[in-house]
Amino acid sequence: MPLAPRVRLNWDGPEHYDPTQKVPCRACETVTNMRDRNGRACCQTCAEREIAAELADLTGGRVPAELYARTPQP
Ligand SMILES: [Zn+2]
Repeated sequence: MPLAPRVRLNWDGPEHYDPTQKVPCRACETVTNMRDRNGRACCQTCAEREIAAELADLTGGRVPAELYARTPQP
């Protein structure tokens, strides 16, 4: 079963928020104050979905599961 990557962007920086203008997101057309790294209107969730889809494409849908530290066996 292919695994879908989950992407979480840190958009805390001021470059990702335009308090002066709400415009339609370039992906879903919902009006937003959020901006992508190129300054285009984009919801954070839309940007995260796009990157997750790109990652899935790059890996052919085979994204390795997170690795957890193993507890040493007694
Ligand atoms: Zn959107």
